[in-house]
Amino acid sequence: MKTSARVVVIGGGVVGCSVLYHLTKAGWKDVVLVERDILTSGSTWHAAGGFHTLNGDPNVAKLQGYTIGLYDELEKISGQACGLHRSGGLILADTPARMEWLKMAHARAKYLGLETEILSMAEAKKLNPLLEEKYFVGAMLDAADGNLDPEGTTHAYAKSARINGAEIYQGTKVTAITPRKDGSWDVKTDKGDIHTEYVINCGGLWAREIGRMVGIELPVLAMEHMYLVTDDMKEVTDFNKERGHELPHIIDFKSEVYMRQERSGLVLGTYEQACKPWQPKQTPWEFGRELLQPDLDRIAPNLEMVYNHFPALAKAGIKRVINGPFTFTPDGNPLVGPVQGLKNFWCACGVMAGFSQGGGVGLALSQWMVNGDPGFDVWAMDIARFGEWATRAYTNEKVRENYSRRFSIKFPNEELPAARPHQTTALYDTMLAQGAVMGDSWGLETPLWFAPKGTEAKDIISFHRSNDFPHVKAEVMGTRNGVGVTEIANFAKYAFTGAGAEAFLSRMMTNKMPRVGRIILTPMLNHNGKLIGDFTIAKAKDELFYMWGSSQAQKYHMRWFEQHLPDDGSVRIERFDMGLVGLSIAGPKSRAVLQALTDEDVSNAAFKFMDHRSMDIANTPALINRVTYTGDLGYEIWVKPDFQRRLYEKIMQAGKPHGIVNFGMRALLSMRLEKNFPTWFRELRPIYGAAEVGLDRFIDMTKNDFIGLKAAQEEKKTGGKLRRVSFIVDASDCDVLGDEPVFHKGKVVGWVTSGGYAHYVDKSLAQGYIPKELVGDDEFEIEIIGEMRKARINHDPLFDPKGEKMRS
Ligand SMILES: Cc1cc2nc3c(=O)[nH]c(=O)nc-3n(C[C@H](O)[C@H](O)[C@H](O)COP(=O)(O)OP(=O)(O)OC[C@H]3O[C@@H](n4cnc5c(N)ncnc54)[C@H](O)[C@@H]3O)c2cc1C
Repeated sequence: MKTSARVVVIGGGVVGCSVLYHLTKAGWKDVVLVERDILTSGSTWHAAGGFHTLNGDPNVAKLQGYTIGLYDELEKISGQACGLHRSGGLILADTPARMEWLKMAHARAKYLGLETEILSMAEAKKLNPLLEEKYFVGAMLDAADGNLDPEGTTHAYAKSARINGAEIYQGTKVTAITPRKDGSWDVKTDKGDIHTEYVINCGGLWAREIGRMVGIELPVLAMEHMYLVTDDMKEVTDFNKERGHELPHIIDFKSEVYMRQERSGLVLGTYEQACKPWQPKQTPWEFGRELLQPDLDRIAPNLEMVYNHFPALAKAGIKRVINGPFTFTPDGNPLVGPVQGLKNFWCACGVMAGFSQGGGVGLALSQWMVNGDPGFDVWAMDIARFGEWATRAYTNEKVRENYSRRFSIKFPNEELPAARPHQTTALYDTMLAQGAVMGDSWGLETPLWFAPKGTEAKDIISFHRSNDFPHVKAEVMGTRNGVGVTEIANFAKYAFTGAGAEAFLSRMMTNKMPRVGRIILTPMLNHNGKLIGDFTIAKAKDELFYMWGSSQAQKYHMRWFEQHLPDDGSVRIERFDMGLVGLSIAGPKSRAVLQALTDEDVSNAAFKFMDHRSMDIANTPALINRVTYTGDLGYEIWVKPDFQRRLYEKIMQAGKPHGIVNFGMRALLSMRLEKNFPTWFRELRPIYGAAEVGLDRFIDMTKNDFIGLKAAQEEKKTGGKLRRVSFIVDASDCDVLGDEPVFHKGKVVGWVTSGGYAHYVDKSLAQGYIPKELVGDDEFEIEIIGEMRKARINHDPLFDPKGEKMRS
């Protein structure tokens, strides 16, 4: 066994082997994998082996497409069969809402390059005569679906990696991992130690325990999962004889069952409501290639239903039942990437669909490690997406919710209830008492909209405009015509202090740092010139800068800052989290409200647009920015949590003569749409350049050198490929939700990133990306739930196009 290697991959399941293979494919040869038992000894060996491209997140769906396409390459390189059955699959919808969901997945597939087709039930029945049409309303065919041999596939990855130079040590258990001062690691095993630059945790069922070796608690939990294998079925053999091929896979949403052919019978697995976590505290190290006790009672409701839907099943005997554990994260997607706060410690774990996602995970991780960038958008599986609030108990509640909803639709206005309320501000009860409907914003309860007296404070979940529509409109109109107040505690807030703070920020950000008392907006780019942040920065005094950004990206951004911090201690970063909370007042009367709360002069001459001040407001020490995301005259007021109630009460008192209204996140997002403002994780993602997004005016190429400058100069020359545009959509009762395809003269040319109803200007709007050459054109269509809707580009913001209101 080697005593030193560039990378040590811990875990020889399908994910570890894929990571190892992809590292060698990316050119790194000095890489080793250690496996405590034999390869596949965790979840991998007893998997049902199914694969498909279906995923709620388009980027993950794309990676699943990559994984499925990879198997032929692996077989070729390794000479090891993966046992592929490319049978295609049918996803069956039992309700109109589920059918709408399928239509949206089908629309997305058009720009992702995935092959799907919407079918009537008569057409679906032709493909799988075992189903009873009367229980369903329609189906989607996914040509990429199939299944494989889990052991063969894992060995195909492993052999390919070995051929490329990697080494694999089986029967070698990692017992401790200790950091050295230079950022490298000593990996202690029961067969000797390996000194390494990088550690990758691919520990699957033991990923949590490996995390604990380096002092982190990963939000991962294993669940028991059952599938059964039927005896041979005459209906199956007859079908095979007649058609000359296998039955297609089935996903039956209603029964929460997946199904596929296995020899001359069927495999049938369930995602049951009565789901059961496995080893919620600690996975025993002695757990080997074992199965768990089957418990058919738990899945009896699913079986009863699926037997109705597929009557031939009811007559088939059960040959065996497999019950095995595999891991989930709170949102069901993997945990991939470098861990914030630990140098050179990476994860590729929490992969619940190793045979759909393992290849994509390996590709993303290897490119990220070798090139410093995953090469595509991996946010949906980035380990940085969970904050410290994702505790073990939180994970347990969310994972159970996620497992039991595996085949449920998530509506765009649906807030899932498990583990809530989790974090709350001091205004939580006050907001509820005023009719707030709350949403979860990075673990924090945040008002979405306010139900007036007599109206139930509850969303009716739907893909269409819903019951909040008139109330959000009232909030927008009240704000735009007078003044509104909203809670903004859910923003990320930071302080940068020290003699090196300004130089550090100037190196990280594209815009020039402001003078004392002023604010700038600035993108942050990676080395390839792609957008990885978008911030508001205020200079409070020399050596003190405050910064605001996206709450969800806090760990993602901290990881980046830490990677680039000078090690001379000249810069300190404080992430305030809930240590600083805020309220924003906006609208033409907001200045009058602010003036009533202070004896300082806040006139337009004394307190200008993009000014930053530290002053007492309503006798609370506050930081104030004259800027708001509504694009109107307005202010963000930041205080310690202890003062938040007082500040809110005083604002409401001062606002009463002006008819102040509460507004929630939905009204805020509606107002930003009519200003054409982009939003982080929708329009702003690390696959777009600043010119493509339209933020190039915040890039100062004449200032000091900054990360991404060269790439930004290049992009300026070429103009990049895409353009973010805003469309006015000819919608009916349903606005875009995001991820719809954009058509031009009948061809898919782009995609929608977000949109909705802009209430003040009374228009349905969408933002998205198209090739830059098409920006002058006007013949676009957007597919909304299976219907083509005309869309025309709206070049200037519909509200206050010259930005006079926010400056006045
Ligand atoms: C019943 C069942 C059916 C399933 N069906 C499907 C399916 O149809 N399709 C699909 O895509 N997925 C399916 N899955 C899920 C799939 O099995 C997992 O997604 C996949 O196996 C995860 O692989 P992994 O490599 O992350 O983890 P694991 O397979 O758990 O591998 C982790 C490895 O790390 C090793 N290890 C842990 N700690 C150490 C240490 N300290 N030192 C050295 N080695 C260590 C373990 O021994 C193990 O071999 C199913 C799972 C089950 C249980």
